[in-house]
Amino acid sequence: MIKKITTLPGDGIGPEIVESGKAVLQVIADLYGHQFEFQEGLIGGAAIDATGVPLPDETIERCQSSDACLLGAVGGPKWDQQPPHLRPEKGLLAIRQALNLYANLRPVQALDALIEESTLKPEVVSGVDVLIVRELTGGIYFGEPRERRTIDGEEGVVDTLVYKKSEIERLLHRAFQFAEIRGKHVTSVDKANVLESSRMWRECANEVATHYPSVTLEHMLVDNAAMQLIRQPKQFDVLVTENLFGDILSDEASMITGSLGMLPSASLNGTAFGLYEPVHGSAPDIAGLNQANPLATIASTAMLLRYSFGLLEEADCIEQAINQVLLKGYRTADLTNANAISTEEMTKAVIKEIKVAI
Ligand code: ATP
Ligand code: MG
Repeated sequence: MIKKITTLPGDGIGPEIVESGKAVLQVIADLYGHQFEFQEGLIGGAAIDATGVPLPDETIERCQSSDACLLGAVGGPKWDQQPPHLRPEKGLLAIRQALNLYANLRPVQALDALIEESTLKPEVVSGVDVLIVRELTGGIYFGEPRERRTIDGEEGVVDTLVYKKSEIERLLHRAFQFAEIRGKHVTSVDKANVLESSRMWRECANEVATHYPSVTLEHMLVDNAAMQLIRQPKQFDVLVTENLFGDILSDEASMITGSLGMLPSASLNGTAFGLYEPVHGSAPDIAGLNQANPLATIASTAMLLRYSFGLLEEADCIEQAINQVLLKGYRTADLTNANAISTEEMTKAVIKEIKVAI
């Protein structure tokens, strides 16, 4: 199989962890007889420094001409004083919009090797396997108007929450399709007791559900969902929700299974193309120190192979290698206080497991 992958290293630890992901993808290509052609693009602070904008057109074109993208992270204190349209994070929002990446997937799985690392009790965490499907290109993040204005003679502010029905439906279809090949249960999260958008969301979920008779649908209010995720996370299979709720719930869920340094994500449009990145940020405090945990990025490459290339065996191989290195006790600094290994050492350990497995 010949595929083109654009890497977007970005800022902070981004270049180090993307290097790890690339190395793993290269090993998979060599071992399974695929050809992955890599090209690189600028995004975030690195792009601002080089071109003056957080997402140059050239980066968008490179992504559009490739089969998948692997992104590191963007942002850092260096660019915090920039005006809003020139912040690194704007690059991320812009690329999601430009590539119409409306479905954000965040799997949260309890790895046996890290059960003790969780903030929750082992019996609550063990066996957790949730797929959070978050709407990514609509909602209050993008609605207009959004402005400061005078309201009843005093200073005020307006943000607007907008969804088209088609935007809600296409996301719900993706969620039900994932549920069909997983645990056959969808929890649709909203605030239908308060928001009109949530009432439409609920209607759409009920309608879409009729197309997937093998999947059960449950509605849950977002405040309750926040509580249930901590109380009994095993009740969830696919959790689907709108942009802002999904942002908050997925950060919360990330703590169920231990470290931020472990969690991958995918952002998909209606095609096979996807943008894959770790859930964590650019970790400027440890940038360039060869200390970052590369496993979230490596796990993101497994999602890339699975969802964009359909290489299920290769994806499983990477995930099993991650599990193995953790079972063997390898830990980067974010996961241990003693005997931490470096980014490069962790990457080599994963590659060694992949080679042993094949
Ligand atoms: P963002 O706003 O981009 O989400 P953030 O401010 O939430 O970023 P991160 O950059 O994710 O934060 O970092 C939060 C903390 O977690 C930092 O102390 C950072 O060093 C640590 N951290 C994040 N990712 C990793 C990683 N891959 N390996 C080790 N530590 C990490
Ligand atoms: Mg954050």
